[in-house]
Amino acid sequence: MSESALSVDAALANLLAAALPITDQETCPTEAALGRVLATPLVSEVTVPPLDNAAMDGYALRLADWSAESWLPISQRIPAGSLGGELAPGTAARIFTGAPVPSGADCVVMQEDCEVNDGKVRLVTAPRVGSHIRRAGEDIRAGQTVLEAGARLGPAQLGVAASVGAVELGVMRRLKAAVFFTGDEIVLPGQPLAHGRIYNSNRATLVALLSQMGIEVVDLGQVPDRLDATIATLERAALAADVVITSGGVSVGEEDHIKAAVERLGRIEMWKVAMKPGKPLVYGRVGNADFLGLPGNPVSAFVVFCLFVRPFLLRRMGAESQPAASFTMPAGFDWPKPGKRREFLRARLQDGWAMLYPNQSSGVLTSLAWADGLVDIEAGASVENGESVRFIPLSELLK
Ligand code: AMP
Ligand code: MG
Repeated sequence: MSESALSVDAALANLLAAALPITDQETCPTEAALGRVLATPLVSEVTVPPLDNAAMDGYALRLADWSAESWLPISQRIPAGSLGGELAPGTAARIFTGAPVPSGADCVVMQEDCEVNDGKVRLVTAPRVGSHIRRAGEDIRAGQTVLEAGARLGPAQLGVAASVGAVELGVMRRLKAAVFFTGDEIVLPGQPLAHGRIYNSNRATLVALLSQMGIEVVDLGQVPDRLDATIATLERAALAADVVITSGGVSVGEEDHIKAAVERLGRIEMWKVAMKPGKPLVYGRVGNADFLGLPGNPVSAFVVFCLFVRPFLLRRMGAESQPAASFTMPAGFDWPKPGKRREFLRARLQDGWAMLYPNQSSGVLTSLAWADGLVDIEAGASVENGESVRFIPLSELLK
């Protein structure tokens, strides 16, 4: 481990450089592809929309036939799903949203702007050519790549795939993560809580964080604070998954065996990162698997996951990803004592102010459940109420 602490950005760059995207691909029904990463670019065979069509319920006509006084006979009715005929000169067609504009018509007028009487229609204000017409191909042209390889398939992407009729997609194989949890003090919910024990919260958080990313989780449970048990579980984990993620046991105390176990079975890299909350960032390789050791403190584990592990995993999944966006907000707090390390404080936006959770200890997990973002304060900076601070929404860190 290098003696001098790395910046958050440098540590992330180290980790990303170590992340090799998986290459195995498979096909997946579009319906089941939520959260998957596209491997094969999706090229449309169809034009969307296929024809010029009405953007409003109303009347289709030729602008040349319009005058403020003239009543145009309604010569046909075109509901969505039917094809009208050519528009007879000097007439209008009753048309509905999504119905094809009949040939000959060059504008659609919304019904709210029309007067209708005895099978005839009149409009007081002049329409414009092309008004309320959605053009063929204005969304997608046949032959166009609509989703690039690396796209993460969320609701909008699945909608686009469906809009071009794709029933299956070429996706990356799902990444598999094996997880286990160290600590003789931790107990699973549902078990009796002996005096001095605490419930294992990192399991709930970590499994949820991974599942939300579309990663398959292999849960190897809780492991006692013993080197032999840690080695045995780590060995199983590395055989079972692409990535092994643990919580706790990465400090340098005698009860912390993760580092020694990784060194025994593989190799380890640790980077001291100048940030709070956080501990050394542990990365290693065991067999063919990557190893990532999260700190035990629940808030540290969550923040380290979001800032480092998640971008690593996204790259490993073969996904395109953007760095988390942030914006500035006025501080609704004082932060008088500059810290030696960059701090990520649990915060919430209230009436346009960034407010801090009153207890910023890395063991206080309720701060994260309360927060909707992190205030990012540079090392050595102090903040006065009303000054601008950088706010990173949790939604950006979890997207
Ligand atoms: P460690 O990193 O093992 O030194 O743990 C740091 C702190 O996090 C200790 O107070 C542990 O009790 C706590 N901790 C470790 N693992 C968990 C867990 N799975 N759930 C909740 N707290 C934990
Ligand atoms: Mg421990």
